Amino acid sequence: MNVTFENLTKRFGDVVAVDNISMEIKDGEFVALLGPSGCGKTTTLLMTAGIYKPTSGAIRFGDRVMNHVQPKDRNIGMVFQSYALYPHMTVYENIVFPMKLKKVPKQMMDQRARQVADMMGIGHLLDRRPGQLSGGQQQRVALGRALAKEPDLLLFDEPLSNLDARLRLSMRAEIKRLQLELGITSIYVTHDQVEAMTMADRIAVIQNGILQAYCSPDELYDQPRTLFIAGFVGNPPMNFLDVTVVQEEGTYHARRPGFDATVTPSRGAKAAGRGEVILGIRPEDITVSRTAMPGAFQAEVYVVEPLGRDDLVTVRFDGAELHVLVDPSMDLQMGESVYVVLDGERVQFFDPQTEKSLL
Ligand code: ATP
Repeated sequence: MNVTFENLTKRFGDVVAVDNISMEIKDGEFVALLGPSGCGKTTTLLMTAGIYKPTSGAIRFGDRVMNHVQPKDRNIGMVFQSYALYPHMTVYENIVFPMKLKKVPKQMMDQRARQVADMMGIGHLLDRRPGQLSGGQQQRVALGRALAKEPDLLLFDEPLSNLDARLRLSMRAEIKRLQLELGITSIYVTHDQVEAMTMADRIAVIQNGILQAYCSPDELYDQPRTLFIAGFVGNPPMNFLDVTVVQEEGTYHARRPGFDATVTPSRGAKAAGRGEVILGIRPEDITVSRTAMPGAFQAEVYVVEPLGRDDLVTVRFDGAELHVLVDPSMDLQMGESVYVVLDGERVQFFDPQTEKSLL
């Protein structure tokens, strides 16, 4: 089932929590709503669930306008950060509860509950109460409960936030596999860009209630449309420097004191001749070397932070710094002088006033 938001707006008094959002979620698609705390993600989800009424605009499931349809009549499954299980019921009773409300015949209900429990690896826990389960097991029950009623739409609100890092990773993979297998249209709220990038088909980035971008994870990463998105997506985050871009003999250069980077025409053309612009470059798109390279500038190693597979190295030059991912075998030392080259095809430029991309 596809879901459409049409100029969706929610106000709480003077606060505009969701500001005129329009987007479509295709049938079977997994869409993440991504943004910092307070940006309006949960409010959007709660309107989709029917718990909040939109102030204006519309929500459609397929062709049907849902604004005034009760939550219980929307056939959605919800999974929250707090597992929201009924503490006095067993796991089995928790899973069948929504099906009872839907008046699913008893035998089918039992069959589905056991099937889902097996799928979620909680078949042996059906007689326990939530208090007797670990956080990860409780979240599996909550997910099982949402799936067993065979919803048209799954809504997730930061479902992995309360789990430890290892469990979060395995649940993340499991949710993604299940969603693909079952093909249930899903909306997943998170402030964690890694979760959004790894799980979603498309990501809606929301800032201050406004939809900033709606595209695939790759597009979001490679062609961020605004400075906010560029800085929000990617870990370690993108570097930013104030530069001016000039064209000399057909070649584009981004410059500032102590810094000179050659960039391809497709990257540099719009930024050239505009005065100061903001250059963005990801830590993995910078090369550091002990020997001189064409187009390199010199910098000093300020600090080396081992991340395991890479070292995160901060280099400094003329009052500015860049974070670079470097192969640990280089064994860079603090205070060393190095040559630095930016990948001229990966550089981004942003207008300092509008904060929009200049690509
Ligand atoms: P978080 O990740 O912290 O949950 P969020 O992106 O989900 O944040 P929302 O919970 O949707 O953000 O809140 C968006 C804005 O609306 C915030 O400024 C919040 O304070 C406000 N808000 C949310 N619910 C209410 C409410 N019931 N009454 C008044 N203001 C609210």
